Amino acid sequence: MPANPEIIYFDNNSSTQVDPEVLEEMMPFLTSRYGNPSGSHRFGAQVKEAIELAHTRVANLLGCLPNEIVFTSGGTESDNTALHSALQMSPERRHIVTTSVEHNAVLNYCEALGRRGCSVTIVPVDEEGHLDLKELENAIRPETAVVSVMWANNETGVFFPIPEIADICRRKGVFFHTDAVQGVGKTEIDLAELPIHFLSLSGHKLHAPKGVGALYVNRKARFQPLLIGGPQESGRRAGTDNVPSIVGLGKAAEIAQQKIEEENSRVRALRDRFEQTLITELEDVLVNGDRSRRLPNTCNLAFTGANAQAILLKLDQEGICCSLGSSCTTGSIQPSHVLRAMHFSTERARSSLRFSFGRFNTGAEVDRALEVLPRIVRKLRELSPAPV
Ligand code: PLP
Repeated sequence: MPANPEIIYFDNNSSTQVDPEVLEEMMPFLTSRYGNPSGSHRFGAQVKEAIELAHTRVANLLGCLPNEIVFTSGGTESDNTALHSALQMSPERRHIVTTSVEHNAVLNYCEALGRRGCSVTIVPVDEEGHLDLKELENAIRPETAVVSVMWANNETGVFFPIPEIADICRRKGVFFHTDAVQGVGKTEIDLAELPIHFLSLSGHKLHAPKGVGALYVNRKARFQPLLIGGPQESGRRAGTDNVPSIVGLGKAAEIAQQKIEEENSRVRALRDRFEQTLITELEDVLVNGDRSRRLPNTCNLAFTGANAQAILLKLDQEGICCSLGSSCTTGSIQPSHVLRAMHFSTERARSSLRFSFGRFNTGAEVDRALEVLPRIVRKLRELSPAPV
């Protein structure tokens, strides 16, 4: 059940509703079970057990070992930690390879590393959002410490071929990190089969709370923490554990593992019906990104001849939430770096919206959006027949 029946929430790549079962599991740790898991009394030991269970549950979802999971404050910290650790462990190597469509948690961290003397190669993508793997391989140099490539793009949903990229990195002898914040819970991931050193995930993208995440650290990978202090997370992430949220993330991982198949086919059907109806009913609706290789929940559409911000505002007035293909920086609307990196014109980016579906969406919500959205787009096109 959606928590807010008056809202139609198609912005699940941005954040998700906490699952009621997750909240239920967390509640004792926000009320009666407040002991510090590092405490040496029984009260603390019970909490420690709950943290251990969360390690096991997240590990089960990813096909790794419980002690390969390090809890963090979210995707951003996990991404920063992976890159930091790889550079610390190879002090003679000062080069990073990444892609033009990564989240800012990777791109802006790389930019900061650039100011601290590292060099960064940013591998471009094509119009469908894909990488040229030869180009990626050629970008790896003897001084490369780490390659960071996301599992699936947050704006278009397009998948990168992670097994192939992990294999290239293994052959070249460099660390490989993948930002799987959008992939975890929406696609099967089996780390037992993959030569990946680090993988990032974030709780609030899979129905756990905001401000909690995890970094998978392969047991064979040498590691240096980003946060230094107490011995928490086996010395890999200092700071008193965010117990309620870690417990919540563990439960969310367990639910995701149980529901992944059924949920993916249900959500994919909602997304496909939504997308296909718009393409059929409205002229000049373009899908941004490869339709055949993307997350089942995401669609990024360009409504040629209509301004996306105006559509978003009108949808918002109707209680429908989605997301712009552009972002507001210092008061002006900038096309998203992802759509720009895919070589789209500013016009196309400015007419683009992302709809991301999830566990609590229903067919009735899609029906309602399909009633409202074509009307809004037609009206806006009439008002501005010239290109936006
Ligand atoms: N990486 C990707 C691909 C994301 O989509 C996000 C969040 O939007 C992040 C990283 C950052 O995660 P968090 O919000 O948990 O810091």
